Amino acid sequence: MEAIRNQLEIAHAATGAALKIYRKVYADIPARDISSELVTNPGPYTNNKLQRDRGWWQRELYRITDLTYHHTLSDNPWATARHYINKGGGRPTTPYTIWITQTGEVLQCVALTEGLWHDHTGHENVHLSVGLAGTLHLYSPADAQLDAAAKFAVWAIRSESMPLINSIDRITGHRDWIATTCPGWSSEASNHWKPELYARIEALL
Ligand SMILES: [Zn+2]
Repeated sequence: MEAIRNQLEIAHAATGAALKIYRKVYADIPARDISSELVTNPGPYTNNKLQRDRGWWQRELYRITDLTYHHTLSDNPWATARHYINKGGGRPTTPYTIWITQTGEVLQCVALTEGLWHDHTGHENVHLSVGLAGTLHLYSPADAQLDAAAKFAVWAIRSESMPLINSIDRITGHRDWIATTCPGWSSEASNHWKPELYARIEALL
């Protein structure tokens, strides 16, 4: 009887610890959650991997290795979701986990556990997608947007939920993974805003 009671106490403690971690992971994301306002697509999908997994590949947060910035070519996360769920035979959600507005508001569009496609690194995606609103190869992000993007990167670096994102080296742009103008920071018209963003991240670390 004593042995069983001990077993139960150990199980109870483990459940409590797991719940604590779960709450921490989902409580401390510095973003306003708008995921329930965005349209999603439950399938079926023409892509075999999406169809097999019944949606995006599901990942534990400790598998996430890098943060990837994008520009969204839009100021409207709701319309962007409507566009992407119908793209190429159907996709489960918008490709931006986090959306940062030009006024610096940070919005969460999709759960971080969804390994969504965004930077052409394969189906089992291990990067955190952060979309900066705008056509940022034509102009620089506003000050407030750069500040919010830097702050979010610093949160990711410090987050215990994603231990592999552990330095500024793990903060990347879409064009670090594939030939693309995204997130726009290397064009003449954008005034080459990458150093400005990284200086703000450095200043906060
Ligand atoms: Zn991109």
